Amino acid sequence: MSAADDPDARAVSSGWSALATRLVQAGRPETLDEAGSLVNAPVSRGSTILFPSIDAMQSTGRRKYDHVPIYGAMGSDSQHRLEDAIAAVEGGTHAQVVSSGLAACTTALLTFLSAGDHCLIPDSVYGPTRRFASTMLRRLGIETSYYPPLATGEEIRLLLRPNTTVVFAESPGSHTFEVQDVPMLANLAHEHRALLLLDNTWGIGAFQPFAHGVDVSIQALTKYPAGHSDAIIGAITVAQEPLWHRLRDSAIQLGQLAGPDECWLTLRGLRTMGVRLERQSRSALTVARWLTTRPEVARVLHPALPDCPGHAIWQRDFTAASALFGVVLRPDYGARAMGDMIDALAMFGLGASWGGYESLVLPTTDGIVRSTAGSGLEGPAFRLHIGLEDPADLIDDLKGGFAVLQESSLG
Ligand SMILES: *Cc1c(COP(=O)(O)O)cnc(C)c1O
Repeated sequence: MSAADDPDARAVSSGWSALATRLVQAGRPETLDEAGSLVNAPVSRGSTILFPSIDAMQSTGRRKYDHVPIYGAMGSDSQHRLEDAIAAVEGGTHAQVVSSGLAACTTALLTFLSAGDHCLIPDSVYGPTRRFASTMLRRLGIETSYYPPLATGEEIRLLLRPNTTVVFAESPGSHTFEVQDVPMLANLAHEHRALLLLDNTWGIGAFQPFAHGVDVSIQALTKYPAGHSDAIIGAITVAQEPLWHRLRDSAIQLGQLAGPDECWLTLRGLRTMGVRLERQSRSALTVARWLTTRPEVARVLHPALPDCPGHAIWQRDFTAASALFGVVLRPDYGARAMGDMIDALAMFGLGASWGGYESLVLPTTDGIVRSTAGSGLEGPAFRLHIGLEDPADLIDDLKGGFAVLQESSLG
């Protein structure tokens, strides 16, 4: 079958192949002697950096924005190589690596908001980002309004205030997978002289944020870049140098960095991220399509499938889909029966986070908090992350789960 005849080609491959060369080359030593002629730069662990003289120390200290640290807390060689690699993957010019995906969200918000400012955040945002806005940002005198993730331009215009300086987006939304109209949000934010910040964790490699007007792109590198469920790390990427100066300055003031081992693991993960995502996204679409045929399932919230809110925007703006999606059961099944089904699954680990090589399941119904409307989900819901296992094994496991769901809802 040629790519043109393959309905899945867009969802699974075009985005990753465009990234392939960058993933292999970015952040590697540029010359043979640079890292002892090794293919990979070694892990650079260290706190104190020694200088040969006072003069050398003082002239280095003045270059505060360069990748020439005067102390290990400004980031290691491993961190700076990862920053270069992530900037290349996201299509930006500079990145700042921090200790977690959540720290990437909070550091970016703290950098671009001040007391008296107002911020717009989508109602479908990652839960801990919401909690940060409604507790710490509020305490610092920054007000947040939540907007429906699929709000029209007119609705957004009504929510913008004279003191709105940041519009935040996350596409697709956590748990409910609404694909947002990012170019529209960027236009409105810019008309209003506000910045558009995007949590682009799901869309890594599949959504080029700066081509769609985003000012600041946030990544939980914990997910696909690290890729093996063994590191927690985050990044903030920009395509304008002045924004990077502000970010780097606030990261240093906050003592935000990532350890060199996490950075090295993430660089290692990036080298294979394209092939992992190509395989995992294809398997995810296979499993998602199979789920749409099950009588127990009301809807599958996979951005490449028509039932997902914002599917047309995904088709317009994304070059691929990752391997995380939602499943909504019919309303006749209760949360208890869904819990019994999840407990019966053997191939899917039960736990938070995603993006590793292994499959995961998480009930999501209780984690959905909304200010503007209900969740819009007609029944109990769970989230699947599809790993590198054989999708036929995953489908067999889900069949067994559905048998338990039926039994449990009858009993
Ligand atoms: C996981 C995740 C985060 C947080 O990343 P951590 O590294 O786990 O702190 C932020 N945003 C989104 C969309 C995520 O999925």
